[in-house]
This record gives sequence, C-alpha cells and structure tokens, in this order.
Amino acid sequence: MKINEIISFLESLAHPSLQEHYDNAGLITGDAGWDCSGIICSLDATEEVIKEAISKKTNLVVAHHPIIFSGLKQINGKNYVEKAIITAIKNDIAIYAIHTNLDNVKAGVKGRMAAMLGLKNTVVLAPKENTLKKLFTFAPVDKADLVRDAVFSAGGGHIGNYSECSFNAEGTGTFKAGAGTDPYVGKQGEQHREKEIKIEVIFPAFLESKLVAALKAAHPYEEVAFDIVPLSNNYEDTGAGLLGELPEEMAEKDFLKKLKEIFSVPVIRHTALLGKPVRKVALCGGAGSFLISKALTAGADIYITADIKYHEFFDANSRLLIADIGHYESEQFTISLLQEILEQKFPTFAVLKTGVKSNPVHYF
Ligand SMILES: [Zn+2]
Repeated sequence: MKINEIISFLESLAHPSLQEHYDNAGLITGDAGWDCSGIICSLDATEEVIKEAISKKTNLVVAHHPIIFSGLKQINGKNYVEKAIITAIKNDIAIYAIHTNLDNVKAGVKGRMAAMLGLKNTVVLAPKENTLKKLFTFAPVDKADLVRDAVFSAGGGHIGNYSECSFNAEGTGTFKAGAGTDPYVGKQGEQHREKEIKIEVIFPAFLESKLVAALKAAHPYEEVAFDIVPLSNNYEDTGAGLLGELPEEMAEKDFLKKLKEIFSVPVIRHTALLGKPVRKVALCGGAGSFLISKALTAGADIYITADIKYHEFFDANSRLLIADIGHYESEQFTISLLQEILEQKFPTFAVLKTGVKSNPVHYF
C-alpha cells in the first residue's frame, strides 16, 4: 500500500482545510508515493519516536503535533526538531501530522475525550465559520435524479444526522447552441426551452472540487450551468471544543476525582470550587484558554482543558470551574483514536501505538 492511500483516508476524516492558519498539518517528511511498511501513531514525532519507527520496521509516523511549525533556517541537529527531521530523512521515515484539522472534527481529539467521560448530547462549542457552501444546478427533468444522487455521493446534502438533503423546483431553462456544439436537447442555432429542475444542495467547502467533478460527470449537458455560493451558516459538526452532559450530575470533588483517574493525571490545576453539582461539561484537548468565554456562554459547569495561564484562571469569573489537566494528558487518547481508525480501515496492516511517552512535563 502507498502512503498516499493512508493520507487520503485520514484526509477524508479530517480535511487539511479544517486546520487553523498557524498550523502545519500534512506530510512533513517523506514521499506520499512510497510503499508503506507500517504505521506508528503518536502525539509527537520526536527523534525517539522516529527511532522507534525504524526499529519496528515501519516507515510512517502519524503524529498529532507537527514537529515543524515554522520555517527552519538550518538543519544541523542543534535542537530536538532538527534532530527528529534529520533522523527521519536519513532513514526514509515519512511523518504525517493530523493536528488542528483533527481538533476541529467532532469525532476527533475532543470526541474521544468526551467518550472517555461518558458525555451525552455533545455539540461543538465553537462551530467553524465560513466552511459551508451551497450548490445550485439545473438538470433536465429526466436526469435530475441522476445528477442529484451524484452530488450526494460526492458528500453533498448532509445536515446534522440527515443526509441526501436538497431542495428542488421545476422551471424552464433556455439556451441556444452555438457552432461546434453537440447539444443534448435542441438544435444548433435555435433557442431551445427545456423543463428543468433547479437543485439546491449544501456542502462543506472542502468538498467543492469533488462535488463539481461528480456533477459534471453525471450531468448530460455539454456546458453544465451551476452556481456555488458561500454561506455564513456555521457548520455545526466542525469547530473547536465540545459541550456535553454527564448522564447524572456529580459533586465537583467527585467529578475531579473521576477526571484524575480517567486521564491518569497526578495533579489538576483548577479554579475555586463553586459549590454546585457538575452536569454540563465543556472540554478542549490541548491549549484551550481561547474557549473559556464560550464555555461560560454555553452555561458549562466545568471546562476541562490545558495550558491555562495564571490570569486566564480569573476569566472563569466565579461562574465556571476551570480544570487544567495537562496538555499531553488531555490529548493522550488521540494515539488510540488514530491507531483504531487506521487499523479498522487497513486491518491487514501493521498499525502500532507508540511506546514512547513524549510528555515533556514531569510532576515532582
Ligand atoms: Zn496538542
């Protein structure tokens, strides 16, 4: 199997266009055209992880964090980033990072955190803006079903748990075929009127080229008329953070104890207890201070995240219990998530979890 096939699969789950502007997700070293000898899943592609890949005879590291974030001016091995890159390149190891694009899908990092906590009725805390578009196209009546189904097959028409959503209205299209044409209906040089169905379908913007290709392949006309319009609706399935509910409310201390156990954290940094039970839980894997205000607005009882600074704890304004459980700890289940989805898709293939605990933070 080519590395390309593995990347295409991962991108179908977390499209690269869903990554944040500062991110560097994607293929960082290696060649997508290589044959893949096995995969190691990790949070970080440190030199230790690269060496592990070499020793286990696997040539693809799928990591959550991109080892390179910004440009490198020298590559002489003076720091951990350069060391990892040099070792990877020397040994033909491909590194693929699936970072904020995985953070921004509901079933990604945060979905796994929510599942570990048993949360129900989960919704994305800060849905991503400007990620939806609408396609309008016009098909002759007898081919409308074919065209519509092709657009659905390419991923159009999903709204929440509903699929194959569209709106259809009948009308009349006109056209005059010019020289050199071979019109599906009508004659060259004469205005033709055709009963057509106008089909409207919503879709995530990253599917645009796939959708247009499917539309053109299925549509009988030589020149396919269609409009694509950006929408300002939020795409509720993508974005940062998650809000969910515990099956039953819990006392704050009991919940913090449970949190410590599930995430194996030696210490939780938190704001003052509020003396009220916990039911609504907001969470975000990794550095999540940017969502404190969203957690407050959503009426969460607790916000579980990491990398909260001193002054940011004050932003709870005595209305929210903020729990900082550590960056690595909050994201640790992402390794199993990646391993499981890859193994399920490629069952005959070696997909391993790293044995390296790459957490640079230790507790004394
Ligand atoms: Zn992270």
